[in-house]
Amino acid sequence: MSITVVGSIAFDSVKTPFGERERMLGGTAVHFSLASSFFADVHVVGPVGEDWGEAEMNAVRRPGVLTDDIERVPGGKTFFWRGHYDYDLNTAHTDDTQLGVFAEFEPKLSEASRACDVLFLANIQPELQLGVREQCDRARFVALDSMNLWIDTARDALLRVIETVDCVLLNDAELRMLTGEPNLVRAARAVIGWGPGAVVAKQGEYGATLITRGGFFSLPAYPLESVLDPTGAGDTFAGGFIGTLAAHVGPLDEEAMRSAMAHGTALASFNVEEFGTERVSRLRHSEIEARVRELGEMTRFSGLPLPARG
Ligand code: AMP
Repeated sequence: MSITVVGSIAFDSVKTPFGERERMLGGTAVHFSLASSFFADVHVVGPVGEDWGEAEMNAVRRPGVLTDDIERVPGGKTFFWRGHYDYDLNTAHTDDTQLGVFAEFEPKLSEASRACDVLFLANIQPELQLGVREQCDRARFVALDSMNLWIDTARDALLRVIETVDCVLLNDAELRMLTGEPNLVRAARAVIGWGPGAVVAKQGEYGATLITRGGFFSLPAYPLESVLDPTGAGDTFAGGFIGTLAAHVGPLDEEAMRSAMAHGTALASFNVEEFGTERVSRLRHSEIEARVRELGEMTRFSGLPLPARG
């Protein structure tokens, strides 16, 4: 089973109350591919500039991450994002976004990328997501992420892509913004009304909620005492979630989706323990499974009825 992802490949400069980094490896496709490669092969589609050297390429090129469709644009500049967080780590403040090579990018996928079983349209201009969606017309499961910038500036294109996917992953504020619905359940139902069968509302330190046509499932975040940098948590969650679905044998039913939620939650918890990709790039599969088991224990309850009074 293989996955294709299109999203940003970036240099990120990030400041949190607990430290800062300049031009570290980042981007939605990078965080996603590192996480999903624990479960399936993933083709990364996107451009980088001349400032993206062999060291950066080697950091992305891990077992299971296929980089043939990363295009180096001569004379171009790699996507750059600068952001900061205050003590509320759930809110990223964008200080600078430079699209660089993404401004002129026209995705042309190799046959291997087009033949993917599962496609993830990570957060990037909706027009680019649409271009990739059209080329991967044989995928059995397609999911999408986006952000407030595109909801504000490219809403029509975003709605056109949403109509073509099976699952939308957004944070709760973005879901409200996209639908104009203050209530999360109603907001998810509105998105389901446009076509996708499932919506995942990412709620930062409060966890994530899955709403499908017939079901509802919610998990808290894995409880951590030290969180250094939430950048990429959403994409790392998506990598664990989509990776699990790609590796799943059998129908992508409610059970499969719940297991995917647990793996996404576990992976995101590792991501936020250190800056950027630092923690996930030296993560081991056994550590993920241990956290998934712990999450199962933490959320188990018997629900035995109490004796009736009156
Ligand atoms: P998240 O998982 O939501 O924390 O995503 C963080 C990543 O999003 C960072 O690594 C950034 O490089 C990337 N990013 C930030 N803004 C944009 C944007 N407008 N388009 C694409 N990627 C972005």
